[in-house]
Amino acid sequence: ATRPGREPREVATHCPYCALQCGMVLREEDDAVSVLPRQFPTNRGGLCQKGWTAPELLSHPERLTSPLLRDPATGELRPATWEAALDRITTGLRDVQEQHGRDAVAVFGGGGLTNEKAYALGRFARVALRTRHIDYNGRFCMSSAAAAGMRAFGMDRGLPFPLSDLGRADTLLLVGANPAETMPPLVRWLTEHRERGGKLIVIDPRVTATARQADLHLQPLPGTDLAVANALLHIALTEGYVDGDYVATRTTGFTAVRRTVAGWWPARAEALSGVPVADLEETARALGTAARAIILTARGAEQHAKGVDTVTGFVNLALALGLPGRPGSGYGCLTGQGNGQGGREHGQKADQLPGYRKIDDLEARAHVARVWGVPADELPGPGVPAYQLLDSLGTDQGPRALLVFGSNPVVSAPRAARVEGRLRDLDLLVVADFLLSETAALADVVLPTAQWAEEDGTMTNLEGRVLRRRALRPPPAGVRTDLEILAALSARLRGSTPADRPARERPTDSTADGQPSEAEAADPCVVFAELRRASAGGIADYAGISWDRIDAADGVFWPCPDDDGPDSPRLFTERFATADGLARFRPVEHRPAAEEVCADYPLHFTTGRVLAQYQSGTQTRRVAALRRAAPEAFVELHPDLAERLGVTDGEPVRVLSRRGEFQAPARLSPGIRADTVFAPFHWGGPARANSVTNDAVDPVSGMPEFKICAVRVERA
Ligand code: SF4
Repeated sequence: ATRPGREPREVATHCPYCALQCGMVLREEDDAVSVLPRQFPTNRGGLCQKGWTAPELLSHPERLTSPLLRDPATGELRPATWEAALDRITTGLRDVQEQHGRDAVAVFGGGGLTNEKAYALGRFARVALRTRHIDYNGRFCMSSAAAAGMRAFGMDRGLPFPLSDLGRADTLLLVGANPAETMPPLVRWLTEHRERGGKLIVIDPRVTATARQADLHLQPLPGTDLAVANALLHIALTEGYVDGDYVATRTTGFTAVRRTVAGWWPARAEALSGVPVADLEETARALGTAARAIILTARGAEQHAKGVDTVTGFVNLALALGLPGRPGSGYGCLTGQGNGQGGREHGQKADQLPGYRKIDDLEARAHVARVWGVPADELPGPGVPAYQLLDSLGTDQGPRALLVFGSNPVVSAPRAARVEGRLRDLDLLVVADFLLSETAALADVVLPTAQWAEEDGTMTNLEGRVLRRRALRPPPAGVRTDLEILAALSARLRGSTPADRPARERPTDSTADGQPSEAEAADPCVVFAELRRASAGGIADYAGISWDRIDAADGVFWPCPDDDGPDSPRLFTERFATADGLARFRPVEHRPAAEEVCADYPLHFTTGRVLAQYQSGTQTRRVAALRRAAPEAFVELHPDLAERLGVTDGEPVRVLSRRGEFQAPARLSPGIRADTVFAPFHWGGPARANSVTNDAVDPVSGMPEFKICAVRVERA
């Protein structure tokens, strides 16, 4: 129904999808919501199709507006009151914990949740549930780059410099990154870089939309990026591009790296990766002779069982060339999910407390416990990384109840059929979402949540810039925010069970035990104020960042410890965040993929994204224009391979691995290696690419090996 006579309303906010967090204006007129361009320093008025169409989901007919409870008699999900849903969850959680212990309950979060929600989720798990089991889908996103950054620089911020630096670099090397499809407005920076005479080099096994724009495209066999990195440093050493002063004064550990890369002469790397020596040499020279050079990695380099070491190989190269900390130069990671950066800073990771603190650090525990008003020795210890957690669900050793916020692991997890089976084995599965995702469809209780345009909060983009997400209008009747849900559950678990209405409609007095009242815990502004205190003194220090300060500028870069002090758009100019201020080189060796091709599974399989879809597709598959642009999954095959298999363009094919299979139409493309098969991972059901992916994980980051496994392809 329209509300005639109301003035149109506009808010400046950000796109709900990826880590670029493009600025946009949302306008509501007669209940219709549209997107207007907004000049913001990263996207400069540009948006991709996903951003322009994002409001469609606000009033989508499939939107959930009532809790759903699974009927034990019929097995079907049926609408229920909030009172009944919250009762069912509280009773279920208590039963499971009484029978199996506190750690029998687990929480799974998401990299798209606001900072306030990520923080509240970690607090909820550790204080309300007192379980050690919490982790999130960011493990599947860029945890390898995060771990490599911590190891080398003592700090993990996707880009340690503003995005605008891309336009200033003379040479830009993108490794396993395809921003032309994943973050189209970012391409304007690449265009400017090239218009200034800069050189763009892309390393990717496919001729992607980004690779097509490159001056040089290196097309290695999947899983051999680390060999390429070591060979590039070998050439840099041989040809004299290493910055000796920088290495001597700003780093430590180069001798061991020098020894390792000595064995990576270019011909050896060519034999392994297929990248010609001449291309390796041209790349090393372009980086080594540039006045300003930037190396960026993304999921292609990171989603491997050796992802941390692969990123470290490129960090070593950047350090040897003296890039990090110099304007227009450096190493960075293109974070994927909307709050991929902030989502990993506030305590929803298994091993972390807010402020990017280690959970087993006694000082960190004491500080956070003080902020939370609980004894430090009552805080649980570290949990386990996402895949390990998902794979343990419902087993004798694993949790028996799971709460999922902002994630759809049935589509996005590796070896997804197995994960789906684990979820089915649970005693209680609760999913909070605004659409019935594949994971929500398995739940015992589904809680309908507000969307991005209906609540306030903050996000931290790929540059470490903290942004304000602003509500255009309140959520529809029957829907609550994630914070309201967590606040209500916390109150119930503490023993108080307020009336069945959203917390935003209640008074805000603190409780007798010193914990925030339900209304306080549901208020994003109050939660952010507590987050600031909890993060103070940590690596990701938000203490000096207020909503007002963000409003007064185009965001605030962390670390920002003081209200009146500067923020930090550019890191590492004088020192790194390690104890002695020096960056750490670390020798890293290539090793084979966890699963190699064989007679039964003779092809390499790799996954990725397409322009018009996003992550597990729960949202974008339901947007009409995006569905038209990318209606279904596909299997990309080289025409030579297709001919060998007797497959024609558009014909359905089955892709099989040791773990399962999926089916989709073949798409023939000369832009992929003839020994490699690609499919996007946005679809569930029979077209679920993650049915075949490998669940081998990186020993440091817990990142699964999404980017390579062995398959065979058959005509369906
Ligand atoms: Fe949204 Fe990312 Fe597209 Fe920008 S690039 S409009 S943030 S999906």
